[in-house]
Amino acid sequence: MQLVDIGANLGHEAFRDDRAGVIARAAGSGVAFIIVTGTSIRESEEAISIAKTNPNLYATAGVHPHHARECDERTIPQLRELARHPRVVAIGECGLDFNRNYSPHPDQEKWFEEQIRLSFELGKPLFLHSRDAHPRFAEILKANKVEHAVAHCFTGEKAELSSYLDLGLYIGITGWICDERRGTHLLELVREIPRDRLLLETDAPYLTPRSLRPQPRARRNEPAFLPHILHTVARALGRPAGEVAAETTQNAFRLFRLNESGSATAAQRPLAA
Ligand SMILES: [Zn+2]
Repeated sequence: MQLVDIGANLGHEAFRDDRAGVIARAAGSGVAFIIVTGTSIRESEEAISIAKTNPNLYATAGVHPHHARECDERTIPQLRELARHPRVVAIGECGLDFNRNYSPHPDQEKWFEEQIRLSFELGKPLFLHSRDAHPRFAEILKANKVEHAVAHCFTGEKAELSSYLDLGLYIGITGWICDERRGTHLLELVREIPRDRLLLETDAPYLTPRSLRPQPRARRNEPAFLPHILHTVARALGRPAGEVAAETTQNAFRLFRLNESGSATAAQRPLAA
């Protein structure tokens, strides 16, 4: 089994002391590739420097809506420079977050659209974040004709899912689906996602799967737990985990063009422990 964790925040301070061990454990549990999420200029730089340490790590470069208020006229030139790095496989995460509202909505929308334009300019897909921002988020995607993107950490309802699938987006499923309090709707909704549009991610160190036993120390999530999410998804689909693993890996390769991004293919070079 060779999984791709399409979203892990390996630059987070939770991994500062044992990042190499975390990457090795991921390899040992079948997670062959990890895309390290960038959430600000600084975090994107960090994500790239982490990706450079191992041929099967990649990075995204972008500004999360929480940080939209920090953006200025230097932001897009800086992101453009970072995103030219061959190991940067997507622009993001970017989008709208009307849940925490750390940045004013007009700032969020402005810098989201700027990053959409950058993704078109560079021909790289978008790694999208949306929280409590439907339907405005979908309106912006539609108005800009975004189709080459993943709705990362999808937790929404059916109408929201349909609006993304209509645009042709990929859907990222996290350990939210393992949450018996707030994620059970996803066990049914995941069946509506076409086989060639499903992606898996941990969003580590966040969103530790609540059904994982034993629970990790300090409840820190890590890429090695991705197979737990895979098995939950496969059970919900009533399909063999191996098939779902192979499909989601193929999907990640297709969307992020991983075999063109300065690394060998999955078959040739699994993540070195
Ligand atoms: Zn996010």
